[in-house]
Amino acid sequence: MDRKERVTMDCRTMPEANCSLTISGTEDEVLEVAEPHAINKHGYKKDAGLREQLRSSLKRESLTR
Ligand SMILES: [Zn+2]
Repeated sequence: MDRKERVTMDCRTMPEANCSLTISGTEDEVLEVAEPHAINKHGYKKDAGLREQLRSSLKRESLTR
């Protein structure tokens, strides 16, 4: 993965979310913050599938200009 690629997790896209948080950064940075956030604020269970579930909901930002 390109280290400069920035992704965004938008909590408003989570079905049960009463939350408007967005987290932006590299994929690893976002997942590091998003995982405990999803567990603490959205009641997700910490398991191996959670990261993959979060990863699939990330939006990629184009760096072309
Ligand atoms: Zn949230």
